[in-house]
Formats: sequence, structure tokens, C-alpha cells
Amino acid sequence: MINFFTWSKTRELEKELYKLILKGVIVTALLMAAFDLFFNSHTLALLEFLFASISILLFYSEVKHQLSFVVSSRIFIVFMAMPIYWNLLYNPSYIESTILFIFLPIITIILRPLKEVMLFTIIFGGSFLYISITGMGEADFTYMELFKLVSMQGLISFFVVMYVQANKDYQEVISEQANALKESNTQLAKLYRAKAIEASIDALTGLSNRLSLMKKLDELFALYRRSREVFSIILFDIDHFKLVNDTYGHNKGDEILKSIAKISLESVREIDMVSRYGGEEFLVILPKTNAIVAQSVAERIRMSMQENIKIENKSITASFGVVQIREKTDIDKLINLADQALYRAKESGRNRVEVVED
Ligand code: GH3
Ligand code: MG
Ligand code: MG
Repeated sequence: MINFFTWSKTRELEKELYKLILKGVIVTALLMAAFDLFFNSHTLALLEFLFASISILLFYSEVKHQLSFVVSSRIFIVFMAMPIYWNLLYNPSYIESTILFIFLPIITIILRPLKEVMLFTIIFGGSFLYISITGMGEADFTYMELFKLVSMQGLISFFVVMYVQANKDYQEVISEQANALKESNTQLAKLYRAKAIEASIDALTGLSNRLSLMKKLDELFALYRRSREVFSIILFDIDHFKLVNDTYGHNKGDEILKSIAKISLESVREIDMVSRYGGEEFLVILPKTNAIVAQSVAERIRMSMQENIKIENKSITASFGVVQIREKTDIDKLINLADQALYRAKESGRNRVEVVED
């Protein structure tokens, strides 16, 4: 009973119950209106018909979310009280007012928070007792009957409060658990994404790593086999990088690797992939590109490195091997061909681009 005086946050349960109650009340009030029209009072029939009509309107506004739940349920309770007062004031038989008077608090307990239920109890209960005791109404209650009625109503209300509260507590626990689950799912998804990125990205340069490079080559080989779509690769290796490390230190070497990654990315298109193939070897994949265009891209990277990456005014350069996809090759063979071209570039003086001819 932690939330005895509060109301569940989402009110989903209450809203569902409210719709059920409205449906039931519409049918009952219409039947009673028909009955009272023929066998009882026309005024009462009119009141019941009014109550049924209001309930229909409330039901539709509830379905279409036009009226807030608070306003809607209060209107419903007030209109429900009207036939009770009529019965109390003008109906000599106290059967109807007694039954309705037990029914009203139950509905109020289900729909409204307990503080408000108490307020309604004071207003409705007080006026009911006042009318009955002072003899204002036609229905003649003895004190004993009133006492039984009030204690019976108290007992029933108590059980309803218990039941509704237990439901609300249960609903709250479930929604808390659902929220916790949702939260941990989001965390897991985030972690998964981070790990997936981590697994496909080279930590130092932020370029794609060997794993994603191989995946991309697999895709392009499949495309080539299916629709003869050509692509090319560029393999390049920094010239005399060992010397750079030995002279300026490993940290400086790492910085240069990062700058080369940045420059290479700036020299290619969105659809191209620059990856770190090994320590200071890079591999660029150029989809839908032949060897001639790939050669010019390699030249662009080479020039950009020569112009922008310098230590003590001396350029850091690289040697490049370029190859276009061809018949009867697989990934290993293609990279091997690029490597041979790269070797030729090193042999013929470095800072050059060599292309594998057909
Ligand atoms: P060459 O022109 O023939 O390529 O000469 P090189 O000195 O570059 O020779 P090689 O390619 O064999 O040397 C690779 C060097 O690259 C050795 C290693 O210290 C350095 N290297 C490899 N990975 C890293 C790295 O992650 N950071 C740094 N700073 N250096 C690296
Ligand atoms: Mg090397
Ligand atoms: Mg090298």
C-alpha cells in the first residue's frame, strides 16, 4: 500500500476500466430509461437517457483522446449521481437509491484517486444522509436501515479499494520492470554498435581495418562476377618509414600515419574505402573505377603527401601499386599483383605510382 494516496503514472489500467464501465453503463442506463419511461417516472427516464447520452459522448471522446481523463471521469461521476438523487427525493421505494448508492462509490474508487474519493464521499454521502434523516425525500429510511446501508457500503468500498490498489501496485511494478528492460536494451544496443565499430576500425588512424577491407573486397568480387562491374585497388607503403621512426621517434611516426590517413580520405570519393592494410601500408578500394582513373587517384594522394606531410621541410613520400580487377583472380592474387607493382615503384626510386598492365 505504498501508493495508497497516489495514482498510477500512466493510468492505462484506469482508462481501460473506464471504457468498460462506460460501455456497461450505456447499455444499462438505456434499458433503465426504457423501463422507467413505460412503468415509472418520465423525469427519471429522461435523467437516465441524459446519463446514457453523456456516457456515449464520453466514450467517444475517450477513444479519440479528446477530453482529459480527469475531466471526463469527473463529469461521468456527477451525471451518475443525478438519477440517485432523483430516486432519493421522489421515489417512495428505496431499492433503487440503495443499490445505486452502493454502486456509485465503487465506480468513483476505480476512476479517481483516493483523496478525491474522500471528497466525493463527504459530498454525496453527506447529502444522502441529510436528505434521508431530515425526511426531505420520499424514500423513508429508518436509522437502522441507514446504518446497515452505510456500513455495507463501507465494507464493499474497502474491498474495492484493496483490489484496485493491488492492481495499481502490480501495474507499477510491471511498468518499472519494463522501463528497466528498455534501458538495458538501449545500453546493450549502444555497446553492440560501439563494439561493431571498434571491430571494423583501426584504432590509430580511424580508417577501416583489414577485416572490413576484406568484406568490401568480397562484395566487389561478387559484383564483378555477377555483372562485370570493374573496380581497382591501390596499395601504398611509406618510403623509408623506419628511418622516420628511428630519427624522430615512434610517436612522431604515429602522427604521420594519422596525417596520411586524413589526406588519403580527402583525396577519394565517398564510395571509396581507405584502409590500413598493415603497419605503414594502406589499401584504397575504388568501386566502379578502371586502372587509368585509379592511377590518377594514386597520383593525387602521392602529390598531396609530398606537399603536405613534411618533417623539417623534408617531404614524407610513399610508393604506390595500382591494379584493376581482371579475370581469374581472387582477393589474394589481386593484392599480390598490387604488391608487385608497389615493389617496382620502390625499385625505381620510390615516391612513384606503378600500374599493373593487362
Ligand atoms: P621502404 O621505403 O622500403 O618501405 O622503407 P621502410 O623503412 O618504410 O621499410 P619497411 O616498410 O619495411 O618499414 C616499416 C616500418 O614501419 C617499420 C616499423 O617501425 C614502422 N611501423 C609499422 N607500423 C607502425 C606504427 O603503427 N607506428 C609507427 N610509428 N611505425 C610503424
Ligand atoms: Mg612496409
Ligand atoms: Mg615502408
